[in-house]
Amino acid sequence: MPDLAAIGSVLSSLKTATDIAKLLRETDFSLEKAELKLKLAELMSALADAKMEMSSVQDTISERERRIAELEEAFQLRATVVRDRDAYYTVGEDGKPTGQPMCLRCWDIQHKLYRLHFDAKDRFVKVCPACAARYEARMAQNIAAQNVPPAA
Ligand SMILES: [Zn+2]
Repeated sequence: MPDLAAIGSVLSSLKTATDIAKLLRETDFSLEKAELKLKLAELMSALADAKMEMSSVQDTISERERRIAELEEAFQLRATVVRDRDAYYTVGEDGKPTGQPMCLRCWDIQHKLYRLHFDAKDRFVKVCPACAARYEARMAQNIAAQNVPPAA
């Protein structure tokens, strides 16, 4: 996993930095000035590497957190989403599918809900704005809240 490798790099850079700092502490400043400057440059470079690698780890963690939040939301929605003919609907207070039809494909694949729209050129077709899946409009109709029509 790339993030675990990044953490390994951070640890390795920090170990290098620590080793250099130890060397500087233990050499009692008997180092030549030029040698000391070189060691300090190595130390700063190791710390800069660690800082850069940490920022990539941070990006990975925030990406994961975003994804977890998405999945939690989808998980909660799952209880309120039902299929009726060729679309998903949220459940109304009467416990039945209600409101606007949403894309089967997007929910099945990504757990995302997108309302279907009529195709601009074909009023018998509804289209998903996200994945462009096409559905027969009569199989994906709006369902009014109180007045649930019998299945056609
Ligand atoms: Zn879709």
